[in-house]
Amino acid sequence: MKGTHGLAVRRAGWIGLIALLWALAAFAQAPEPTAPAVEPLPAAAIIPPAAFAVDEVPELAAPPEVTEEQAPRGMRSEGEAERRSNGQAPASFAQGAEGERSPSGQEPAVVSTPAQLPGPPVSLLEQAWLAPSADFDARVARTRRTALELGAWSLDPAARSLAAGDSGIGALARSAAAVELAPDLPAAHMRLAHALWLQGGSPMAAIRAVVAAFQAIGRHLEASLWFAGSGLYLLAIALVSGGLLAVTLTGLSGLLHAAHDLGHLFSRTMPDFARCAGLAALLMVPLALGEGALGLALGLLGIAVIYGRRAQRLAMLLAAAGIGLGAYPVMRYAGAALAAFPEDPVAEAAYAAAHGVSTPVEVERLSTLADSDALAARGLAIHARRSGDLGGADALYQRLIETGAGDVAALNNAANVRLDLGHMDRAIELYTRAASRQESPVVLFNLAQAYGRAFQVEDLNRTIAHAQRVGGELIAQLTALQGTDTAAFVVDMPLPPSMFWFRALRSHAGSDVAQEFRAPFAPGRLGRDPLAFAAAAAAVLVLGSGFGRRFDPSCWCKRCGDRVCPRCDPQGVAGALCDGCNKLFFAPEKTDRVLRARRVNELRAREERVDRAHTIVSLLVPGAAGLLAERPVSGWLGALCSALGVAAFVWHEGVVPDPLVAGATAPVAFFGVAAVAAVGYAFAVWTSLAARRQR
Ligand SMILES: [Zn+2]
Ligand SMILES: [Zn+2]
Repeated sequence: MKGTHGLAVRRAGWIGLIALLWALAAFAQAPEPTAPAVEPLPAAAIIPPAAFAVDEVPELAAPPEVTEEQAPRGMRSEGEAERRSNGQAPASFAQGAEGERSPSGQEPAVVSTPAQLPGPPVSLLEQAWLAPSADFDARVARTRRTALELGAWSLDPAARSLAAGDSGIGALARSAAAVELAPDLPAAHMRLAHALWLQGGSPMAAIRAVVAAFQAIGRHLEASLWFAGSGLYLLAIALVSGGLLAVTLTGLSGLLHAAHDLGHLFSRTMPDFARCAGLAALLMVPLALGEGALGLALGLLGIAVIYGRRAQRLAMLLAAAGIGLGAYPVMRYAGAALAAFPEDPVAEAAYAAAHGVSTPVEVERLSTLADSDALAARGLAIHARRSGDLGGADALYQRLIETGAGDVAALNNAANVRLDLGHMDRAIELYTRAASRQESPVVLFNLAQAYGRAFQVEDLNRTIAHAQRVGGELIAQLTALQGTDTAAFVVDMPLPPSMFWFRALRSHAGSDVAQEFRAPFAPGRLGRDPLAFAAAAAAVLVLGSGFGRRFDPSCWCKRCGDRVCPRCDPQGVAGALCDGCNKLFFAPEKTDRVLRARRVNELRAREERVDRAHTIVSLLVPGAAGLLAERPVSGWLGALCSALGVAAFVWHEGVVPDPLVAGATAPVAFFGVAAVAAVGYAFAVWTSLAARRQR
């Protein structure tokens, strides 16, 4: 009854876990550009991909009111985005742009320029991309400049659509443009590496692009959350399964002695099967209490501690600590990193505003919460600035600064808005405040631009020199983007990733994921309460080793494999050899010479057989090598490495689908982890086999 119940709970747990992961995935996964998805729109698809499609770049200046079809396409996608998130057909966007075009997109539709359309304002980012330009490079450079002005340091949606395009522009040029527009997106760097390898004919450049992809992970919020979550998830699985494996193997190795010695509590003449049944009943107590596999593992841990020496007790301490860490905090943080975004609508909307163009639903959400939530106010301010509403952005930034919620990025962006509004003095004051908090080259560059506009040449030269000292390379890039344009070019700073990280780590999403993860093997109190597990494991370790030190356990004779029990044979010599073997090897004068030679030959043959069997088991069962070589710590390491390797191999695409940020970085990273774990495992097995041979 209890068993079936446990099984059902376990099954339900696994199914629940899978369902949960899928749900997370569905939230985190951006729909393919062409997929008719109906899920709420994730951050990844905020800028409608078609807006950045390059299959028809209008060459040179088209008449202002005839922007071939990029505008309608972009807007139609925006309309789709809107429809996907609120379930309604957009009324305002699609005027004159509704899908009259043939699927191949051959018929140009005549519409007004985006800025003149009624309805929600079209993002300045889209306008920068869609406006006529001399060539593809000029379009990319102009969009990059606008994106930086608006604080979109990595314009991911543009990079994604460039990758999806299939136009006359070569894959290499498209990938390079994608990296230029979204330098923080690991997937874009990997696509560039691929294109360089295949078409660029420069393997070294391709390898540099791969390195750049890995460096980009830390700068990209979504990618770093996804990689951190997936990595911690794999680590938790490895710690828990490696620990359980090591505890189980070690506990099983002492099981028969434990059964025998337990029988002495009742009667010396108790048959073996009764002794085994007694021990089994004792071990089943945690199962009967509903503690599941984790409770059983604690019972085996007790046997392992009582029947082991110091090294084995240390290994069991490590294994128990690993199980505790993996099942509770590590899994909780993994869940927080993976689930925090989809479960936090404000963070999602703010992120969407910061990285592309928000949908009306997201803007509504942000404006409802802007008064109570600093992140919502930041997202709304970014959105207002992006859609050209300088007054709205200014009011939001000023309020943020007044309430003390302004960091360097807020001060800098507020100053940019003030500068655009023409309030020179206040802008310079805000830049100076931002620069005094952090020596940021971006702030200094902006301050220099403000001085330039105010004709304070001396201050300008001093500040730009300071900026070059702090971040020469970035200043060179910004100056190149500014080009010969004499208008002030100021750069917004992106939202600090720490704002999102703090929210993620504070969210309850992580504990729910961890609870689901534990449910299959720890359905009881131990699974719900980390302190209960810690207390139970500590009690088993302390009491077990205290008892084990005082108690003289039975063991196997090292030569013949018979049981040596100080209670069955109180007269026998204490030690690792049985009576017969002791006489045979240490008192040969008491034995018959011929019989002795025959017995020694038998034992030698047995030793060879046992040795072969041990080698096979060492190679086949992860963690067994260290145990058989009496190196239990390396046995635990072997179990850990094998679990990590298998997990990383199985989940080489990540534990939840990639939200279109990691791209080919994911399999490279996770196969890399699997390879390192395999090397670690091979090392543990090899050293254990070598140690056993030397004995
Ligand atoms: Zn013996
Ligand atoms: Zn005995």
